Amino acid sequence: MSNSSLVTYTKLSPHYDSREGTPITDITIHHMAGNLTVYECGEVFQTREASANYGIDGEGRVGLYVDEKYASWANANAASNRRSITIELANDEIGGQWHVYDKAIEKCIELCADICRRNGIKKLYYTGDTSGNLTRHNMFYATACPGPYLQSKFPYIESEVNKRLTMKNGWIKEGGEWYFYKNGKKLKSQWVHDSKWYWLGKDGKMVKSNLITYKGDKYYLKSDGVMASNEWIKFENGWRFFNKNGKMRIGWLKWKSNFYYLDSKGYMVTGGRNVPCTFDSDGKLVIK
Ligand SMILES: [Zn+2]
Repeated sequence: MSNSSLVTYTKLSPHYDSREGTPITDITIHHMAGNLTVYECGEVFQTREASANYGIDGEGRVGLYVDEKYASWANANAASNRRSITIELANDEIGGQWHVYDKAIEKCIELCADICRRNGIKKLYYTGDTSGNLTRHNMFYATACPGPYLQSKFPYIESEVNKRLTMKNGWIKEGGEWYFYKNGKKLKSQWVHDSKWYWLGKDGKMVKSNLITYKGDKYYLKSDGVMASNEWIKFENGWRFFNKNGKMRIGWLKWKSNFYYLDSKGYMVTGGRNVPCTFDSDGKLVIK
């Protein structure tokens, strides 16, 4: 079980329980009843006997306080805590309608869609009572949470999340080629980090067995599309080396206690060829 990659800050709370084998089927949205940053919210959950899996502040930052694999202390209802992922949103109005930051709501929609995808929740249902799987704190406990404003946004959150769930996302194979989608949009001419690094060409195709130039440096995408990193790759005209950030090296290279020289095209120099050398004022060979 994983947590969301949208998380920008983690401060784990000591307040959580086992889910006791209960699958995650619900999402419960709360308001903080305050204008707290994700950092301040994290501090509160260190001491106050309460917690939530996530918090979102006015800047749209996402805090992780309880791993998704655990039940948070958010809903004042043990059964609901066990089946729910809980999210706290920051208010930009104290009292009155308890307005919640627009940025927090938009990020919450993104986070909910991500939670659904990773936990196999096909769709969110906001029924206005506990028969749905998008729930409010005040469905379980006599509380003002989530406040009149956020409560009025539940149908909107439900429909926006469900829109995203039907959009293409992540790696999709089409016509024998891999493409990467984000909220229905095919990404092009950019890196994708998915535990390894990949490059999407101008047409959006995952580039394979090819050298590319990015910001003046050359990178190599192997036959499975993975960026070569800290390794030698054999090309038709010889060996080239790619450092741990994927950049093709030229000039001197120390590799496993031996020195190599890579010419201006990155090829390993072999067979008695002469190479340019530079020595510093102390007479030491300059290795860049
Ligand atoms: Zn609440």
